[in-house]
Amino acid sequence: MLKDTTAALVADIEAGKYTNIVITTHHKPDGDAMGSTLGLWGFLKSKSNRVTVVTPTDYSENLFWLPGNAEVVEWERDNIKAKDSVKAADLVFCLDFNRLSRINQLGELVASLECPKVMIDHHLDPEGFEDYAYWNPRASSTCELVYRWVEHYFGANHISKETATCLYTGLMTDTGNFQHNNTTPDTLRLAADLMDLGANNLEIHAKIYDVFSVSRSRLFGYCLYKKMEILSDCRTALIYLTADELKDFDVKTGDTEGLVNFGLGLKDIVLSVLIIDRTERVKFSFRSKGNFAVNEFAGRYFQGGGHKNASGGQSEDTLENAVALFKEKIKLYKDELQSI
Ligand code: 5GP
Ligand code: MN
Repeated sequence: MLKDTTAALVADIEAGKYTNIVITTHHKPDGDAMGSTLGLWGFLKSKSNRVTVVTPTDYSENLFWLPGNAEVVEWERDNIKAKDSVKAADLVFCLDFNRLSRINQLGELVASLECPKVMIDHHLDPEGFEDYAYWNPRASSTCELVYRWVEHYFGANHISKETATCLYTGLMTDTGNFQHNNTTPDTLRLAADLMDLGANNLEIHAKIYDVFSVSRSRLFGYCLYKKMEILSDCRTALIYLTADELKDFDVKTGDTEGLVNFGLGLKDIVLSVLIIDRTERVKFSFRSKGNFAVNEFAGRYFQGGGHKNASGGQSEDTLENAVALFKEKIKLYKDELQSI
């Protein structure tokens, strides 16, 4: 399933052709997005004079400890610096996304660049903006792909402890601690290889997961106690949050991550949905079990996509209408959901 068109690019990188590389990733980057980006950054520093990570938006505080984080330029926070870096790039890596709409306004700038773009990603349906691709939708994570790319073309001995730490982080988060169905024997072997290269699994786990604020814990409790609806006809668990509730619980970027998984932990539930009023738009998170392809559902009704069992989407309508539309549309899948 691997599509690799980077051989000629690698020769150019080795020849020192690129001296100003930018690496970017999707908006509200998660562990895989930041892990792959900073992991590749750590590696490429030895190949180019200047390598800059530019993120479209902020991200969760529990990723701030990642090696290299202090060097990240955020488009929204440091717009002039981000624009200057991207405009000056002679090569742009795009990690953990394959549609330019996933990087907001930064996408328009990237699209207008004349320099080559490299996509390293594991999501379905790439739109094809890139000049070079290292793409495999069967890969557990973009971190896995970054590792395989470096291993194949340069040798795994070029991966430092810092890069191994970044890559382990994304491998761990995108597989839900090696629990989702994207976890294969190869994934576990890769985790072991990264540990051999110096990644400390216990430390990484603690830094990512054991850092809940009290208000975040209370938000989770509130959602499960007061907000979770069970649509038993459709074997679906639904939580939605208003903008006021986000304010009441002082919700910060990344605080709702993992919440949608609780619904899927329920016996007999095969679809879990989290709908959040993010003011500028309503955001959907979908998780499913078995054969129910939430990326197709998200794409059809909510301008979204992602993976078969983990997807997202959005709506420009009110929260109330978005929830009502979801409830109406999911009924069309009642029989399919019952048969899983
Ligand atoms: P999450 O629910 O954690 O935000 O996203 C789950 C998965 O769906 C991620 O792999 C993410 O890349 C993808 N995803 C989330 N939102 C969107 C969206 O609006 N469009 C597309 N194409 N994918 C999304
Ligand atoms: Mn990913």
